[in-house]
Amino acid sequence: MNYSVQKIGQILHALTQVEGTVVTGISFDSRNVQPGDLFVALVAENDGHHYIAQALQHGAAAVLVDDQHQIDTNIPAVIVPDTLIALQNLGQYRRNTINPKVIAITGSNGKTTTKDMTSAIMSSQYKTFKTPANFNNEIGVPMTLLSMPDNTEVLVIELGMDRPGQLTLLSQLVRPDIAIITMIGEAHIEFFKTRENIAKAKLEIIAGLKKDGILLIPESEPLLTNAHIEGKVQTFGENVTSIVSEISETKFTYLHTRFAIPLLGRYNIMNALAAISAGILLHIELENAVEALRHFDLTKNRTEKLTTSHGVNLISDVYNSNPTAVAAVLATLKIIPATHKYVVLGDMLELGEQAASLHACLAQTVIDANVDSVYLVGPLMKKYLYPILQQRFDSAHLHQYETDQLAELIKDLQTLGENGDVILLKASHGIHLENVVNALVK
Ligand code: ATP
Ligand code: MG
Repeated sequence: MNYSVQKIGQILHALTQVEGTVVTGISFDSRNVQPGDLFVALVAENDGHHYIAQALQHGAAAVLVDDQHQIDTNIPAVIVPDTLIALQNLGQYRRNTINPKVIAITGSNGKTTTKDMTSAIMSSQYKTFKTPANFNNEIGVPMTLLSMPDNTEVLVIELGMDRPGQLTLLSQLVRPDIAIITMIGEAHIEFFKTRENIAKAKLEIIAGLKKDGILLIPESEPLLTNAHIEGKVQTFGENVTSIVSEISETKFTYLHTRFAIPLLGRYNIMNALAAISAGILLHIELENAVEALRHFDLTKNRTEKLTTSHGVNLISDVYNSNPTAVAAVLATLKIIPATHKYVVLGDMLELGEQAASLHACLAQTVIDANVDSVYLVGPLMKKYLYPILQQRFDSAHLHQYETDQLAELIKDLQTLGENGDVILLKASHGIHLENVVNALVK
């Protein structure tokens, strides 16, 4: 990115000062400002306008501020009524001038994984840029658009959603050529109440879909396949055969081609099929997709396979959690070959009034997974799942920890198992099981 203050003023129809200054990047966190950045002063819990001096100290070339704040007239600046809307408009401008093929991905689970897979596949034939980390909201999406290099041919972008209307806005910003809904789960059910409402909100992703664009949906979700959707729709998930789940990879055959992904879980086959389908729509050769999926860059802590310092296989899935995701990963644990299997489950957060029933519901899934021992962490697990599991597991095989007892959990896990065994850890990020993972792997 290389825009003068004057140019940004023209794009945004905004007032400017010290117009000749050129900006080469963008940042909204004064601590992360790189020399040459445009510092965007967003008004949130922390008002970015209070950090202008710090941003300039870190080398910000100019600032984007709102007209309710006074700033020094010698600071290069673009002055707008609302800095968030300006950031979005600037992102939209960049999307339209670079004009790559855009693949937008939403869904209750699997967005980041599918993004990483799709980007790996597209990179085999195109200059591809993907959402960094998990930048998927109304700030992250325009930041992604603005971070996209000039020569980008394909943009793979993650769109998050936690309330109605949000995806309409994000989809209109990115105007996808291909839109993917990975799945409908229970994430944010606290707010939406029903899966039907969640499906409806996810379908807002077509709001900005190009006229000849295509929506990809899982064939296994009737809330999507039965929905009345305007425009071209294609399903993924059919015609997969010969699935083999191993501890560090999953193999399957699709379109007479053998794929292997370095991930566990049948749901990751679905994510891969969404990515492959998008690849086929953009004329990726199947053998390139096979090669790309064999080793792709995965954002951390999503069903990641590690090894503890005492040689036990560790599956870390501690980035987020909800009932569908727990069921999916336990179903996988059940079929992978291992001598002894142990599971650590932490609370699933943000489930609202359904928290009690959704934690209790996990009992059968845990029992079906045939694990040797269960380790529960957090007040919700303690209250709702622990009493039910006590009917099936004796005290040597069922353990329970408060959220501030992770040190004890680490101590117990450090001596657990040997080569050929597997420990699975899954919880919402708020439980911080990543600290346990890090301690065990060290
Ligand atoms: P976030 O909303 O936090 O951005 P996300 O949608 O990007 O999440 P990922 O980070 O890709 O999702 O995956 C998070 C977890 O969801 C995984 O670790 C896995 O347990 C589960 N998961 C991933 N894909 C699926 C899927 N297709 N169906 C069900 N569960 C899935
Ligand atoms: Mg994500």
